[in-house]
Amino acid sequence: MILRCLLVSLLGLALCAQERPLVLKAARLLDVRTGRVETPGQVWVKDGRIQPGAPPAGAETLDLGDRTLLPGLIDCHTHLLIPAGLGELGYLKRSQGALILDGVVNARKVLQAGFTTVRDVGASAGFGDVALREAIARGDVPGPRLLVAGPALSITGGHGDLNGFPPHLHTQDEHIVDSPDAARHTVREWRKRGVDLIKIHATGGVLSNHDDPAAPSFSPAEFKAIVDEANRRGMDVCAHAHGDAGILEATVAGVRSIEHGSLLSPATAREMKARGTFLVPTLYALESILLPGNPYKVPQGSLAKARAILPLRRAGFKAALEAGVPIAYGTDIGVFEHGQVAMDFRYLVSYGMTPLQAIQSATVTAARLLRLEGEIGTLEAGRTADIIAVDGDPLKDITTLEQVRFVLREGRIVRREP
Ligand SMILES: [Zn+2]
Repeated sequence: MILRCLLVSLLGLALCAQERPLVLKAARLLDVRTGRVETPGQVWVKDGRIQPGAPPAGAETLDLGDRTLLPGLIDCHTHLLIPAGLGELGYLKRSQGALILDGVVNARKVLQAGFTTVRDVGASAGFGDVALREAIARGDVPGPRLLVAGPALSITGGHGDLNGFPPHLHTQDEHIVDSPDAARHTVREWRKRGVDLIKIHATGGVLSNHDDPAAPSFSPAEFKAIVDEANRRGMDVCAHAHGDAGILEATVAGVRSIEHGSLLSPATAREMKARGTFLVPTLYALESILLPGNPYKVPQGSLAKARAILPLRRAGFKAALEAGVPIAYGTDIGVFEHGQVAMDFRYLVSYGMTPLQAIQSATVTAARLLRLEGEIGTLEAGRTADIIAVDGDPLKDITTLEQVRFVLREGRIVRREP
């Protein structure tokens, strides 16, 4: 490596920037734990890590001007291998190869938007999410650090099943499980395929036919079997759930996080808080389904479901906030355009979070959900050098996070605007 760096420097290239000390300066640095703004802000990195103390003399210095330094952002609910706006039948016309290439393109978009880690929770494409995670980790394609779930587990007729199509067009897949034994088998199979966590559909959904978002899916014994088997294999479970009964059953079974949580009641929120269950709210996804002109070509049945749920979401989010449930940033990109991955910040604030709480949801809290709090989520010494910069002060204007100007991922500059 030293020889390679020597050769590269002789050639006048900067490919080994991550090996040299790099000092980042900006007008501000936000301590996301406390909300304290340091002026001016400075952080220095070497070997892909944030370093303690003062930088050595002669280190390369980059002055980013009137910007704020923050930790790289984390999205805990993405679908990189699902293109937005395909419509109901479009998905079935797309080959697995095409979906994996979509994932490569979307991973790059998300990284460019300042998200240096994402948890991808539900891809078909033959475990293409595992392959994408590996390709990014090798440095073969640009993208955020990935944690992946493979296809989400669902019941027959549930959110993950293909409902409403003639039987001869549809054969059931292994991700459909209808007994505790089948659930254990699938969890073991998924582990064998290399997933990091298990995703389940604990209730019906919005973008699916003939299922009820308010109704729980698995039996209590099936929920328990999935969580127990996943935990035995060292994996957490995240549960898509809209209705309160399904949220409660999944929570009691021991899932790590509830995704969406639309119809959460105050009593269930208190149960989540007591058990340390996270909420990943994905607020903008539902709004995007109901955008004027239906740009994402959502079928009529799903539009009706979204219209029924949307007015109830604020109460559910408020219940979580008031109970002190840990809320981690998650978008559901794939429902809407991947480049808009920062859109949830403004909705988190409009639903009642302070700007600091919204930023914490995508940094310290998300890192804790992913059990990576020692690695990412703050700009403390020893953490991975995932650093972004935005114009102005995001505590005063949260939408500045929608225009990230600078991105460092493990010490390498991947975006730099003048
Ligand atoms: Zn989703």
